[in-house]
Parts: sequence; C-alpha cells; structure tokens
Amino acid sequence: MPEYQMTLTNRQSIVRDTMAFWFDANGARYEFRAGQHADFVSGSESDNSRTFSLARSPLDKDSIMIAIRMRKTAFKSELKTAALGTKFIVSRPRGSFTLHRDITRPAVFLAGGIGISPIRSILRSAIQEHLTHKLYLFYSNRKADDAAFIDSRGHVHCCPGPSVSCVS
Ligand SMILES: Cc1cc2nc3c(=O)[nH]c(=O)nc-3n(C[C@H](O)[C@H](O)[C@H](O)COP(=O)(O)OP(=O)(O)OC[C@H]3O[C@@H](n4cnc5c(N)ncnc54)[C@H](O)[C@@H]3O)c2cc1C
Repeated sequence: MPEYQMTLTNRQSIVRDTMAFWFDANGARYEFRAGQHADFVSGSESDNSRTFSLARSPLDKDSIMIAIRMRKTAFKSELKTAALGTKFIVSRPRGSFTLHRDITRPAVFLAGGIGISPIRSILRSAIQEHLTHKLYLFYSNRKADDAAFIDSRGHVHCCPGPSVSCVS
C-alpha cells in the first residue's frame, strides 16, 4: 500500500474539544477526492494508526488537514503534543463517500459532530469547481459551540452558498 511521509506543520483549536491539524506532503503529489479519508500512523509506533477524513478540498494543494474530536486517548494525546515538524506516515486516500456527478440530482448531507469533516471537503471543492448541484447540509450537535466549520451566520466557513440548517 503506497504511503507518504508527511510533516505536521500546524495545529489549531477550532471549536470546543476539537482541533485541526495540517500536514505537508514534502513535495510528493498527494491526490484525493473530496470526502475521502486516510490512515495516519504516528512516528513512535508503527501499529498506532487511526483513520481521519481529509477536511480540506483537493484543490487546496499546499497541505492536507484533518479535524479531530480530542480525547485523552493515546494517539490524540501524541498528536496534540507532537512538535511541529514531526513526521507521520499517511496512507493513500481511500473511500467512496464522494459527490455524485449528476448535477440534476441534489445532494443532502446529514452530519453529526466531527462527521462534518468529509462534507466540508466536498462542499468546499464543489464551490471551487463551480459545480451547480443543489447541496443541503443538516448538521446536528449537542451544543452550538460544538459545531465545527460553521460561522456565526450558520454557513460553512469556506462555502457561503449552500443552505445550512443547524439542529441543536
Ligand atoms: C472512515 C473514518 C473516518 C474518520 N474520520 C474521523 C475524523 O475526521 N475525525 C475524528 O475525530 N475521528 C474520525 N474517525 C474516528 C477515528 O478514526 C478514531 O477511531 C476515533 O477518533 C477514536 O480514536 P481514539 O484514538 O480517540 O480512541 P482509541 O484509542 O482508538 O479508543 C477507542 C475507544 O476505546 C476506548 N478504549 C481504548 N483503550 C481502551 C481500553 N484499554 N479499555 C477500555 N476502553 C478502551 C477509548 O476510550 C475510546 O472510547 C474516523 C473513522 C473512520 C472509520
């Protein structure tokens, strides 16, 4: 299975108990389709791997980003404290949760919590590619503070177009 050595370049808290992490592919071409995910292996233990959705659009070529609901579990604690510059092994992208090509069929997304990540990637890339699908997102969280990638107007940060209904 092709793997990529990537460098942790940045991390940021985005909403309560949720952090985003950016990785650079060090010049390698890392191509994926919006909505896909990959396995991330920490440098210290080769079997310490977790799967995360790729939350950026494939057209945001400078780095990949994942968003994680943080818990005090081993992998996430390591990710939270790793020095910027730490190397991680990332698998090739996988998954078929991608936007259909037929623009006459609308897409309705139902997301809860951090499940917004692959949808954020799909919406952002749809906007960037000027796709004309009708896109609807229903995004549920326990509290409004837990809603990642949503601005104060209830829009997905990167995507002013699609309607967003937040259900609390
Ligand atoms: C396709 C896919 C995409 C995903 N995308 C994302 C994403 O974008 N963002 C995201 O945050 N997550 C995502 N996940 C989930 C992610 O891969 C992790 O499984 C999840 O975050 C839990 O990982 P962890 O390291 O916190 O917990 P783990 O250490 O794997 O533990 C899992 C659970 O078992 C419990 N546990 C661990 N060890 C023990 C023990 N010894 N005894 C009893 N209980 C124990 C933990 O408390 C925890 O509740 C995705 C998963 C899949 C399959």
